[in-house]
Amino acid sequence: MKFYLSILPLLFCVLAFGQNDENTEPELRMDFEDYDPPSTLVVPEHEILSAKFPFLDVHSHHWRMAEQDLDKLIRQMDSMNMQVIVNLSGRGGERLKAMMDNIKKYGYEDRIVLFTNIELRSIDEPDWTEETLKQIEYDYKNGAKGLKIYKSQGMTNLDSKGNRIKIDDPRIDPIWARCGELGMPILIHSADPKSFWAPHDENNERWLELKTRPNRKRGPDNPAPWETIIGEQHHIIKKHPNTNFIAAHMGWFPNDLKKLGELLDEMPNMYVEIGAVIAELGRQPRMANRFLEKYQDRVLFGKDSYKPAEYPTYFRVLESDDEYFPYYKRYHAFWKMYGLDLPDHILEKLYYKNALKLIQGVDTEQFKRD
Ligand SMILES: [Zn+2]
Repeated sequence: MKFYLSILPLLFCVLAFGQNDENTEPELRMDFEDYDPPSTLVVPEHEILSAKFPFLDVHSHHWRMAEQDLDKLIRQMDSMNMQVIVNLSGRGGERLKAMMDNIKKYGYEDRIVLFTNIELRSIDEPDWTEETLKQIEYDYKNGAKGLKIYKSQGMTNLDSKGNRIKIDDPRIDPIWARCGELGMPILIHSADPKSFWAPHDENNERWLELKTRPNRKRGPDNPAPWETIIGEQHHIIKKHPNTNFIAAHMGWFPNDLKKLGELLDEMPNMYVEIGAVIAELGRQPRMANRFLEKYQDRVLFGKDSYKPAEYPTYFRVLESDDEYFPYYKRYHAFWKMYGLDLPDHILEKLYYKNALKLIQGVDTEQFKRD
């Protein structure tokens, strides 16, 4: 009897909290990554394979466009009602010219826009500013309609002494200014989601992404605090009010639209695009609707990675009133999403009208459909 009494508390523990591994049936043991059950919710579902209005994707990457089969690209674009694509990886100089030659050869000057890029790691060279300005002029003459700044700027680009080149390094000022004079918007991606700088623990919403892609993890000062890098981006936008900047991925504030609104109020030449952050909008349909109502002239459609199969999820979030449906990458969003059911006049601005105001020389007639 004494023996039974002494094991009783232990037995109770096992029965009450039968979660510890040795005492759990094998089929009940699984971790967070495995637990992704299909929803039993029965609600209307809409598969939207083609956007309601012709659209312009302002954020795409096609590195081999000088040799690429462009008929194939255009066929894919047509199938989803994408009228114009912006290839941000124009690379500059002769490589940009070779891409433009291929676009002309196929006759798709109206459908494909190139943004150029600049080399920042050679910034210590005495003639860097002068040479880079020359390149921008050359690219502009060859048809480049904007400049893309990669996230390496402010993160991994180092000068000849091994120092981080800040986004607001004053030696780049003449480039930002010249782009403004030429009417070339600058699409700029700075830093990464703030969660990459936070401890990799149970409180981190990007836990799965950091587990599966550990090289994205940052220490609090590696290479600088998140706020510092984002602050440098805002600094150049404020310093160059005559240049239009499109902050990629909603400036990494898609999860704090109130703050993003304040930034847009503060910087009238700042625009944003929604690439890779649609799941943030899809988890806050009411807040996102209020934001897009108020800032309907400042948000552009972008996707980033060019995968035709993923666009329908964007259309579904923006156009449908569907409820509780998944994003396609669980490491970006383990939550379910809701359609924003945006009114036509806002959809049209997001899909193409705002981009046509910023990017010069795109044929606007091709967006008219009746
Ligand atoms: Zn990109």
